[in-house]
Amino acid sequence: MERLQKVLAEAGVASRRKCEELITAGRVQVNDEVVTTLGVKVNPAQDFIKVDGRPIRRQQKVYVIFNKPKGVITSAQDPEGRKTVTEFFKNIKERIYPVGRLDYDTEGLLLLTNDGEFAHLLTHPKHHVPRTYLATVKGTPHGSLLDKLRSGIKLEDGMTAPAEVEYQDIDLDKKETIVKITIYEGRNRQVRRMFDAIHHPVIKLKRVQFGPIQLSGVPRGKHRHLTPQEVEELR
Ligand code: URA
Repeated sequence: MERLQKVLAEAGVASRRKCEELITAGRVQVNDEVVTTLGVKVNPAQDFIKVDGRPIRRQQKVYVIFNKPKGVITSAQDPEGRKTVTEFFKNIKERIYPVGRLDYDTEGLLLLTNDGEFAHLLTHPKHHVPRTYLATVKGTPHGSLLDKLRSGIKLEDGMTAPAEVEYQDIDLDKKETIVKITIYEGRNRQVRRMFDAIHHPVIKLKRVQFGPIQLSGVPRGKHRHLTPQEVEELR
């Protein structure tokens, strides 16, 4: 549910302020009833909204899962001219933006949407959405070091919350180990900083799961729309 003036503004009727004036002037109808009070909440996908008797354009909500390659920046523009995620969505006419972010050098699962409420919900620290990564790290961390990551480790911005951590693969020739790690927070460069703290720096980082949504089946640099059921599961 969203505030009526926000829905009107997002449908391109006018600025949010001007939409408030339209409401108080009695020019807006929801399901054929005039609404004159501000703060009324509506469901833009279901409620039938008219201004001066004319239906507003419906804002189509779009939700996509993208397999971000490394070397791509998670923002709409980059002052340094680096490739941005939005360049991959030229065929989507709605203005979608990333839900949270992945580092320039991190690859994998990134959600994008034009649904601000949904994005806010998923990135709010209170919601503790699990995020799972495959981290290729230098050397092979001892089990006691992984225990430290599991119970919480001190970073410069405070202790991390408990995490799930397990070995995925050990490459003795390359002297590298793939560790699967699930964290319930989204602090800046958190996984890299956690492994730095145990002196096994990350060589490669890939996010493979966000909440119930898995990356498998989405090729690198490609995206697919989430199903309505997936969107519901994320809420
Ligand atoms: N943790 C990191 O260090 N980098 C990311 O991109 C995501 C999580």
